[in-house]
Amino acid sequence: MRDRASTDFLSIKRAKNGQGVFANNVFKKGETVLEFRGKIFTKNNLPNPYDAVEDHYVQIEKDEYMGPSGGVDDFVNHSCEPSCGVKIYNPGIFLVAIRDIGVGEEITWDYSTTMDEDEWEMDCCCGSKLCRKKIRDYKYLPNDIQEKYQKLAIAPAYILRTKK
Ligand SMILES: [Zn+2]
Repeated sequence: MRDRASTDFLSIKRAKNGQGVFANNVFKKGETVLEFRGKIFTKNNLPNPYDAVEDHYVQIEKDEYMGPSGGVDDFVNHSCEPSCGVKIYNPGIFLVAIRDIGVGEEITWDYSTTMDEDEWEMDCCCGSKLCRKKIRDYKYLPNDIQEKYQKLAIAPAYILRTKK
């Protein structure tokens, strides 16, 4: 796997809502775009109060979260029609292109793909034609979208294990 975690390949710029991460070069479908490099927290050790998006936390296991790294991975926005998906390996959490991405395109993932929390949701204004208006747990995604993400292998094992 090529190391795409370097900021040479990505820039943080003004996006539709605040800041976002944009491609400086082409990424082919399946290529690693970046690695999440924050510290790991258990649910009990999360900051209180906690805001997953403002504080840059990503759920990575039933009871584990990755905190902010201070790098580009903190600034990747949600989209209901994302360019990337999260792949959780052991070790390593990566963002991988789920379609070809052109220069200047925004790097996004669907936050719902990693969410199995029951406690937290937010309004979505990603602007996609497919926008679901709410970002909620994976289990609330429409079936066709769940199937698409499962085919792309970006639905984490901890969610598929517990999903009804
Ligand atoms: Zn949306």
